[in-house]
Amino acid sequence: MLRLPAFELARPRTVEEAVGLLAEHGDRAAGLGGGTDLVPNMKHKLVTPEVVVSLAAIPELGGLAVAEDGTLVIGAMCPIAKLAAEERVGAGWPAVAQAASLIASPQLRNSGTLGGNVMLDTRCRWLNQTFFWRKSLGFCLKKDGSECHVVSGGSRCVAAASNDSAPALMSVGASAVFVGPDGRRELALEELWSTDGVRNKRCEPAELLVEVRVPPTAAGHRGAYGKLRDRGSIDFPLLGCAVRLDLDAAGAVLDADAVLVALQARPARLRGCAELVGGTTPGSPEFAAAARAVAERAGRKARPLPNVPGDAEYRHAMVPVLVRRTLEAAGAGGGPVHPL
Ligand SMILES: Cc1cc2nc3c(=O)[nH]c(=O)nc-3n(C[C@H](O)[C@H](O)[C@H](O)COP(=O)(O)OP(=O)(O)OC[C@H]3O[C@@H](n4cnc5c(N)ncnc54)[C@H](O)[C@@H]3O)c2cc1C
Ligand code: SF4
Repeated sequence: MLRLPAFELARPRTVEEAVGLLAEHGDRAAGLGGGTDLVPNMKHKLVTPEVVVSLAAIPELGGLAVAEDGTLVIGAMCPIAKLAAEERVGAGWPAVAQAASLIASPQLRNSGTLGGNVMLDTRCRWLNQTFFWRKSLGFCLKKDGSECHVVSGGSRCVAAASNDSAPALMSVGASAVFVGPDGRRELALEELWSTDGVRNKRCEPAELLVEVRVPPTAAGHRGAYGKLRDRGSIDFPLLGCAVRLDLDAAGAVLDADAVLVALQARPARLRGCAELVGGTTPGSPEFAAAARAVAERAGRKARPLPNVPGDAEYRHAMVPVLVRRTLEAAGAGGGPVHPL
C-alpha cells in the first residue's frame, strides 16, 4: 500500500487567508480541492507539499448559480456531481454538463471539484506511476529526471491535458477568476493553458482559482461532449471532444466550435469548424457532409502521442470518428457520446 508522506494541513476560512498561506509557503504548499488527483500524486511523490491548504472550509467557493445577466458562475469548490446534475447547466450549457457527467466515477465526482478539474496537472503513462516504477526508469524530465520517454531526445515535456471539463468550458467561451497576492484577475480559459507539459497553466502558484464564469448561450445553442476511454465507468480520456453549435431562427448553423483534449498539453481548438458547418442545417445531408469534412480535418491535424494509455494509432483512427459523432449528437440536441 502506498502511504502519504507527512504534511501540515491548513484549513483557512477565507480566500484571503488561503492566498496568504499559499504565498507564504510558495513551492512548499499546494491547494486542496477534493484531493482526488492531488492525493494520489502525493503518494506517487510527484508533488511533495509540506503544507496542504484545504479549501473546504471557505463557503464562498462552493456556489453554483446563474447570475441576473445569464452568466453561469461555478465556484471552484463546486462538486463535479452537482455541476453534472444541475438542470439549468444541462439546458443552457449541455457540453459542460455532459463532460462533467463523464469525469471519473460517481464517488470521484462527489469528491472532485470543478476547480480541481480545471487546475488538473497534465498526465503521462511514464509519469503517473509509483516513485519506485519511475526510479527504475531513471525518472523523466517532468519530474526528477532529464529524459523524455515519449519523444526520444525531446527537450520539452508533452504530457497530456486530461481534464474533461476543459474543452467543454473552452467551447462556450468560459473564463477563470483568480485571486492572488496582487488581487483579482479574470482571464479567458483559452489563455490559461500553455503547451508546456511540466506546468500547462499561466498562473502563479499563489493564485487561487475562485470561480469559472460561463457566458449565457442563445436560444439556438446546442452542444455535446464525446469521450473515448478504456472503461466507461471511470477512466481518464484517451480523447475528448466538445462541440458548440449556435443556430439561427431558421435552424441553420450561425457559428460553431470544436475543442479536443488528451492530444497535447493543452486543450486544442480545431480551426475551421465554423467555416465548414456554417450555413448548414443539422439533420440535412449538407450538415452530414460538413461534419465529415470537419472530422477528416481533425484526423489530418491530430498527432496522438504514446503519452497516455492506449495505442496512439488507434487513438488517431478514432479522432475523426469521435469528432463526427459529437458534431452529429450536438446537431440532434443529444449526447454525450461515448463510443465504447
Ligand atoms: C481513478 C481516477 C479516474 C479519474 N478520471 C478522470 C476523468 O475521467 N476525467 C477527469 O477530468 N479527471 C479524472 N480524474 C481526476 C480527478 O478526479 C478530477 O479531475 C477531479 O475533478 C479533480 O478535482 P479535485 O477537486 O479532486 O482536485 P484536487 O486533487 O484537489 O486538485 C487537483 C489540482 O488542482 C489544484 N487545485 C485544486 N483546487 C484549486 C483551486 N481552487 N485553485 C488553484 N489550484 C487548485 C491542486 O493543488 C492540484 O494541483 C480521475 C481521478 C482518478 C483517481
Ligand atoms: S511527456 Fe516525457 S517528460 Fe513529460 S511526463 Fe511524459 S515522459 Fe515525462
